[in-house]
Amino acid sequence: MTNRYDRQLKIKQIGIVGQKRLENSHILVVGVGGLGSFVSSELVKAGVGNITLVDYDVVEITNLHRQNLYTEEDVGIDKLVAMKSHLQKANKDVTINTINQQYSPDLLDTKYDLVIDCTDNFPVKYQINQDCQERGINHIFGTCAANQGQVMFIDPTSACLECLYPKENIDKLGLSANIGTNPMIVALTGSLQASLAMKFLTSGKYDAGQLLVLDNWTFDFRKIRVNKKSDCPIDHHNFEERS
Ligand SMILES: [Zn+2]
Repeated sequence: MTNRYDRQLKIKQIGIVGQKRLENSHILVVGVGGLGSFVSSELVKAGVGNITLVDYDVVEITNLHRQNLYTEEDVGIDKLVAMKSHLQKANKDVTINTINQQYSPDLLDTKYDLVIDCTDNFPVKYQINQDCQERGINHIFGTCAANQGQVMFIDPTSACLECLYPKENIDKLGLSANIGTNPMIVALTGSLQASLAMKFLTSGKYDAGQLLVLDNWTFDFRKIRVNKKSDCPIDHHNFEERS
């Protein structure tokens, strides 16, 4: 029988070794709205071994234009129930765990190889950033609103979310509920988060602290090296000294 991963096994940077690494990985995806539904569907189809999804929302009709996999039949159902059902149909070999609650720090565990922040809530993003930095877990930041998306891989020694956007500027950050969301920017941003995850999980390689900013109206894509802030409230030196 043809291997379902035949086409990605042929990519020289992945191969059988990379695929095995992916199958031995456990990732935590926080939020299965717009970004989370693309991230989880792409990584489940690609064959990540174990995925844990966190959310507490139900599917609404206004979600369907941008949140991959959900259908009209899912409206009114818990997102995790609907998403797990769709994902498991896409790939029966992946272990899918669900945690139906708001994000809280006690959910984070070093058993996760990677955390992917797919929330649309900046206070929660700062909390995930802080918790991952304190525990030494790599995570992928992502956000999008209107026609703009941003992604960055963050490790315990790189620039973090608070280096990028000091918390006091939180009010200036656009949120999709207020300024709308172009459905295609969600697909692009989620796919870029999944791409960063795919590279890291198959090869162990990543470029932390590089922010990609994309705009699918002007078609302007920029990569920006973010410097660590000496006055960042996250103690970056803490982990460097321990490791
Ligand atoms: Zn920082």
